[in-house]
Amino acid sequence: MYSNIVKFIHDLYKTEEFVPLHAPCFVGNEKKYLNECIDSTFVSSVGKFVDRFEEDMARYCGAKKAVVCVNGTNALHMALMLVGVEENDEVLTQALTFIATCNAISYIGACPVFLDVDRTTMGLSPQAVKEWLGKNSEIRGNSCYNKNTGRRIKACIPMHTFGHPVKIDELAEICRENYIELVEDAAESIGSLYKGQHTGTFGRIGAISFNGNKTITTGGGGMMLFQDEELGKLAKYLTTQAKVPHRWEFVHDRIGYNYRMPNINAALGCAQLENLDRFVQNKRETAALYKDFFSSIPEIEFWEEPENCYSNYWLNVVLLKDKAAQQRFLEYTNDHGIMTRPVWELMNKLPMFCHYETDKLTNTQWFAERVVNIPSSVRL
Ligand SMILES: *Cc1c(COP(=O)(O)O)cnc(C)c1O
Repeated sequence: MYSNIVKFIHDLYKTEEFVPLHAPCFVGNEKKYLNECIDSTFVSSVGKFVDRFEEDMARYCGAKKAVVCVNGTNALHMALMLVGVEENDEVLTQALTFIATCNAISYIGACPVFLDVDRTTMGLSPQAVKEWLGKNSEIRGNSCYNKNTGRRIKACIPMHTFGHPVKIDELAEICRENYIELVEDAAESIGSLYKGQHTGTFGRIGAISFNGNKTITTGGGGMMLFQDEELGKLAKYLTTQAKVPHRWEFVHDRIGYNYRMPNINAALGCAQLENLDRFVQNKRETAALYKDFFSSIPEIEFWEEPENCYSNYWLNVVLLKDKAAQQRFLEYTNDHGIMTRPVWELMNKLPMFCHYETDKLTNTQWFAERVVNIPSSVRL
């Protein structure tokens, strides 16, 4: 069975060589735009591609404003600061995520609370959030507090796991009822829609990553999406050193950050965005081929997009029947030139985060023992 899987994936990617999990794809205007940067000398912190990338992205995602920055991690960091998370606040999130989500919370000195994911989305479960809040929180004035720790619960960051949208409308409703700010970690879900609306546009802020292994890349890069234009303008200001606009004077009136995306990275982004729809379509075709192939292997379940969702299928997922089978699958495929990977070590098990509060994490644990990511690059 495993040898058939390896053969199928080698055939899918038309190679006998090593198949990576996700490689970037440059088939458009990338070189042309990069040359324009070099010819114009605008390679650094200002330039027309930065403005264009932000405008094109806001339009593509249906956001009022997009602000690009150096990477997805600092997009999350800035987003949490902008919604008012402060030291010692609590931030609700999932243990099944990439480290960046929790690092961003930690940069502020805030405390993550790890709640369970949904069995149908692999992302933060509205029911788990509701149950945990019901048991542990109280509203005082216009803020939500943890009754046990006394800390304010300021924000919630769900993550759209492997590009599959969470039940973001239900989470938004719960957050609204409890005076909790919603920030979406949409790092993996560029091009993914929930009920026809782009992920990252439901919360106060959505953060997206353009790292080299994501669906489209700027080399390294990130972006914040805003429905509130004023908040977006503040984000631009703070990510560009909070400089008071003036033709020659250098005056700064806040502590700002050098989080801006250089023009050459934005140039790459503009070219990649032109192909995004095509890439997502291509990745969805790959997912359909995997689905068809795995339907004849009863021991392995191919993961499909949740209801009401249009997913970019950033990384395809198969579910093995238990931890032993998962380990066998990982070992065989990696031994035979196919890169595969389990989910990230759960955040609540890492030394920096293991002392924070969690709920039972039943589904989280279930996924951790079964999920394997399989190669998902665009095939052209
Ligand atoms: C990729 C990713 C990020 C951001 O990563 P950067 O490498 O900093 O761009 C954040 N959260 C999740 C879940 C991610 O997968």
